[in-house]
Amino acid sequence: MEKKLSVVVSCYNEELALRQFYAETSKVLKSLSWDYELIFVNDGSQDGSIEILKELAAGDEKVKVVDFSRNFGHEAAMIAGMDYSSGDGIVCMDADLQHPPECIPEILKKIEEGFHVITMVRTKNRSAGKIKNITSSGFYWVINHISDVHLEPNASDFFAVSSHAARVLRSNYREKVRFLRGYVQNIGFARTNLTYEARARVAGESKYSIKKLFVFSINTILCFSNMPLKLGI
Ligand code: UDP
Ligand code: MG
Repeated sequence: MEKKLSVVVSCYNEELALRQFYAETSKVLKSLSWDYELIFVNDGSQDGSIEILKELAAGDEKVKVVDFSRNFGHEAAMIAGMDYSSGDGIVCMDADLQHPPECIPEILKKIEEGFHVITMVRTKNRSAGKIKNITSSGFYWVINHISDVHLEPNASDFFAVSSHAARVLRSNYREKVRFLRGYVQNIGFARTNLTYEARARVAGESKYSIKKLFVFSINTILCFSNMPLKLGI
């Protein structure tokens, strides 16, 4: 039977980016030797994202839409997309084209070679400001020093897993506060890294304020390390 690749895309107020994302990504997906499905998770957008997604789904049977009742956050959107995907491999990516769809054929090759986890490591980030880059390095420094896990500093929410690894993530990593890109790097299985150059956001603006990132970082540290608890005691 023909194999299928599922692409999971989380969208929060992405009305300005969605059509271009769909056009560029579909073009790449059509060139693959595998069948595919494109799963958009609308994470409670308040703009016109859902109308655009419904329109895309009406015109293309490969497009599926999961629509959240409100904003639950990027992590929740990715796991929901994985829940709904039925492919032999799953690629998670952002809707703003910062994760270049041209990388998908290379990712697929790695899945075909038998890798269960493919982490996409960023070499350059054209749109993140200096503050974001510095706080991001600080975050990884802390987490790598106080927990047992090792997280790749420039790994992103652009990654791929085999259906087997996806099953493990779905059934064993259902905490309310999640850091999927960290789990992906620590579930074991044959894993490989590929590098990519992050493009500038195609339209719209980043949904992550410094404040949101700070809260997210604290949650993640609590999720991976019991050092704060020990310090408290
Ligand atoms: N996103 C989401 N829910 C949120 C915030 C963001 O689904 O609450 C999506 C967003 O639409 C994008 C991806 O997560 O596809 C990454 O967000 P963004 O590009 O704003 O973050 P940045 O790349 O600036 O870190
Ligand atoms: Mg982005």
